[in-house]
Amino acid sequence: MRVTIVGGGLIGLLSALALHDAGASVQLLERGRLGQEASWAGGGILWPLYAWRYPPAIQRLAAHGVAAYPALAGRLQRETGIDVELTVSGMLILDAAERAAAEAWAGAAGRPAQWLTAAELSSREPALQVPEAGATRLPDVAQLRNPRLIRALGSYLRQRGVTVHERTPVTALVAAGERIEAVRVPQGELAVGDALVIAAGAWSAGLAPPAARLQSRPVRGQMLLLQTAPATLRHMLIHRGHYAIPRRDGSILFGSTMEAVGFDGRPTAAAGARLLANAQALLPALDAGRLRAQWAGLRPGSADDLPVVGRHPAVANLWLNTGHLRNGVAMAPAAAELLVALMHGRAPRVDPAPYAPGAMESGAALPL
Ligand SMILES: Cc1cc2nc3c(=O)[nH]c(=O)nc-3n(C[C@H](O)[C@H](O)[C@H](O)COP(=O)(O)OP(=O)(O)OC[C@H]3O[C@@H](n4cnc5c(N)ncnc54)[C@H](O)[C@@H]3O)c2cc1C
Repeated sequence: MRVTIVGGGLIGLLSALALHDAGASVQLLERGRLGQEASWAGGGILWPLYAWRYPPAIQRLAAHGVAAYPALAGRLQRETGIDVELTVSGMLILDAAERAAAEAWAGAAGRPAQWLTAAELSSREPALQVPEAGATRLPDVAQLRNPRLIRALGSYLRQRGVTVHERTPVTALVAAGERIEAVRVPQGELAVGDALVIAAGAWSAGLAPPAARLQSRPVRGQMLLLQTAPATLRHMLIHRGHYAIPRRDGSILFGSTMEAVGFDGRPTAAAGARLLANAQALLPALDAGRLRAQWAGLRPGSADDLPVVGRHPAVANLWLNTGHLRNGVAMAPAAAELLVALMHGRAPRVDPAPYAPGAMESGAALPL
């Protein structure tokens, strides 16, 4: 099978890997450089924040996706020498009111959860200004560094013979009957082969013919990066929707915002100030002078904010893998596996119905 993929974010890259592993000959077209949009901007937390608020369709893809990362990280490190810094740092839910829901969810999912009193928290995380009576610790929540994952995947795919065209924007699909024959790029037309996969993140709906669940719904998220001494913070943590992700080198990422501002991907001073104030409320010793960067990315939403994975309802050889909104890194390996199973007519591990591009299950968008 010869497949063309549009979009070189993590969803396109992992789709390329899964298709290559299944024996397909793959070319990937990226309008800029690989993974410089949402996939670069993201935090790399490998579990939905407040997971119990999400429907089973998100939890299932996240569970399978997260489970794939240890083997994937090992493979990429062996083959490319790039360490994606997959780290099981655990997550502290600092909202005491979430305790019962978190424990019920962990019990049902067979995952560990532990209540820490304020004193226990302070002894584990001395830099933390404990905001409430205690916290739920989810010790097995992991993280990785997205830019490293992108670099490793790009290098591995090229090594394995996947054709990667950067700086190649697709401006239109060229149809013949009910199939897509080619895509238009600045150099002319490129034949797509047997199938075309659109994995163009927030820009996917602008490329494909209409489908019920495929919607242009970018959601801007902003992040701050501050430098601290290594191990200033050991766990990832979240409080009232704001989170911190400590990296091994002492840098800490603080996020995030959920803003419906169309395709405006610029960071703002107001959000930066708010993120910094929230960060300093939790970690009072943070030195604002060690602010290294602020950035924003556009998360790809969908009509109901569930991923859109499957065959396009009106075009036989057009496939979609998009709409992963807040959890695209966690779900990417499982979404790619689902796509490839469907493309090969194999029974997928998860029920594909909730992700089908043409049909909506509930009709209601998730709350941001
Ligand atoms: C601030 C922030 C924090 C996040 N934190 C997390 C987290 O902790 N955990 C988690 O699991 N997820 C997180 N996410 C979500 C996650 O990053 C996204 O769901 C995921 O990266 C989406 O990947 P993608 O490949 O679909 O999109 P993108 O990374 O946006 O990639 C789409 C690619 O398609 C290319 N493209 C678009 N149009 C064309 C065209 N016409 N021709 C060629 N190429 C084109 C773009 O240039 C881009 O490279 C976060 C997102 C943000 C913004």
